[in-house]
Amino acid sequence: MRAFAVREQAPIEAAPLVREARALPSPGAGEVLVRVTACGICRTDLHVVEGDLPLVTVPLVPGHQIVGTVERVGTMRGGRPRFRAGARIGAAWLRATCGACAYCASGRENLCERARFTGWHADGGFADYAVVPEAFAYALPDTLGDAEAAPLLCAGIIGYRALRLSGVAGDARGGRGTGGRLGIYGFGSSASVTIQVARARGSDVFVCTREPSHRELARALGASWVGATTDAMPEPVDGAIIFAPAGELVPIALRSLARGGTLALAGIHMSRIPPLEYADLFNEKRIVTVTANTRADGEELLAEAARIPIRPAVTTFPLEEANGALLALKRGAFAGSGVLLP
Ligand SMILES: [Zn+2]
Ligand SMILES: [Zn+2]
Repeated sequence: MRAFAVREQAPIEAAPLVREARALPSPGAGEVLVRVTACGICRTDLHVVEGDLPLVTVPLVPGHQIVGTVERVGTMRGGRPRFRAGARIGAAWLRATCGACAYCASGRENLCERARFTGWHADGGFADYAVVPEAFAYALPDTLGDAEAAPLLCAGIIGYRALRLSGVAGDARGGRGTGGRLGIYGFGSSASVTIQVARARGSDVFVCTREPSHRELARALGASWVGATTDAMPEPVDGAIIFAPAGELVPIALRSLARGGTLALAGIHMSRIPPLEYADLFNEKRIVTVTANTRADGEELLAEAARIPIRPAVTTFPLEEANGALLALKRGAFAGSGVLLP
């Protein structure tokens, strides 16, 4: 099978993903072998390939928004397998947790110190096949095609968690929330899914982003105001999310918040945050980071996505263009979500 792997991190312009011919991997106990039909690309893949995040496995096949068909089921640890051969499933960033620590025991498995991640600790979906632990895989709604479903698996789930942590639209588990005003900074894949959830819950959304094509998509998806990165939002927002990995946006976003508002930082990596003025944080404003996801986040997002229904704006690339696709992501060359098709 084909796999695109990184052995040495380098700027994506240097094409650090190398095409390898590999034997088909074998699913172990509790795992399934998946024939990949689509794999979303994410800024985290770029961080892993370029060196913003350390390379913890070498060589590594990135990709953690995997849609595919179960080809073979490994031996199960007792009981029946969750998925049979032929089932369409999705695999996301969270790959394994210890299941025993205080975080795992209290519904916060995203904070498990022994968590492992797809496309970081283990090979991901920039390949024809991938091995996936079935306990961390998702059944996918039939309403979405393979390429459309892929961006939900990280961009969607992380944005969904960020939206909840921002406090806007409450904790609407499926129902309509209370509305409220949401500010979004950076309008890539995750933001383009999140705005659809927020709009479906009746929220007003303001978007600040650099790329004109991203501003256009934000407008098309229902943003009631769109501006450049550092423009002041027209009214204070109840909560805001920074999706861009740009620390300099933190004080700007804090100033856009209404009193008591929360700023959620949705990236896994962010450039240095400048010193904050206490006045920008005063009035009980909060900053919270979004760290991975729980399986419950994934199940809830997929159910709500099917109901709304969410339609990710997808740009597809052949698997062979893995480097080019990540370069296009880095340059903001497409709006919405990028997806590799083997
Ligand atoms: Zn744990
Ligand atoms: Zn991701």
